[in-house]
Amino acid sequence: MEGPSLFLAVEQLMPFKGKTILSVSGNTKIGKERLDHKKVLDIFSWSKQLLFQFDDFALRTHFLLYGSFEATVEGKSVTGDYKRTRDPRLTLNFENGQLKMYACSVKYVEDSNLKRIYDFTADVMSPTWDEKAALKKIKNCSEEQIADVLMNQDIFGGVGNIIKNEVLFIHRTNPRQLVKDTPAKKIKEIATEARNFSHQFYEWRKVFQLKANLQIYRKSICPICGGKVKREKIGKGQRMSFYCPVDQPFTTK
Ligand SMILES: [Zn+2]
Repeated sequence: MEGPSLFLAVEQLMPFKGKTILSVSGNTKIGKERLDHKKVLDIFSWSKQLLFQFDDFALRTHFLLYGSFEATVEGKSVTGDYKRTRDPRLTLNFENGQLKMYACSVKYVEDSNLKRIYDFTADVMSPTWDEKAALKKIKNCSEEQIADVLMNQDIFGGVGNIIKNEVLFIHRTNPRQLVKDTPAKKIKEIATEARNFSHQFYEWRKVFQLKANLQIYRKSICPICGGKVKREKIGKGQRMSFYCPVDQPFTTK
């Protein structure tokens, strides 16, 4: 799940804030009993993490590559990116609903106010997102490929593989393009788009229109030239990139 999906999840799960967990189950090995009868003091997201704050500790969930959740909130069903049917990692039952989280990493953090340690200026979904700070950090990545820079959570917290591919397509940039060969203007456009597209992603996700609006991610034909879309594992993370070699050429300064 990418940042915008988690941002939406927080909104959907907010009715659980202030509620007490009535019972807990799931195949996690973290000692889930600790959560039993605990009151949720806050729910928030940062980058690709979903966080539940309790009195003297927090529960940090990372949905990794294929994680998801589903919940019933006050009688209404809400889901994450993909509905899963296998065993939940963790299920939390409340008087007003139930949350099931799948294929995710869950951890306790011993902190009574975890929110204060996060740098929200590096989160593309945050109202305090700081583009200038991001551009400054990119200057220190001159030897890196732009696809890796976009996925760097310390620079573009919340940007995932879908957003990366779409942003590079919108700005006609090859994912292997090196930062040092890229005009400053282009880098600024990409940074602005990473934030704007993430907010657009959130709006589409909310009304189940995300997939219908993607142009290059998991496509086989380029919507501009009609040529074949390249599909390659690229960069340090070896995450799948989808791009058109004709419409996303290398550029030089
Ligand atoms: Zn093309």
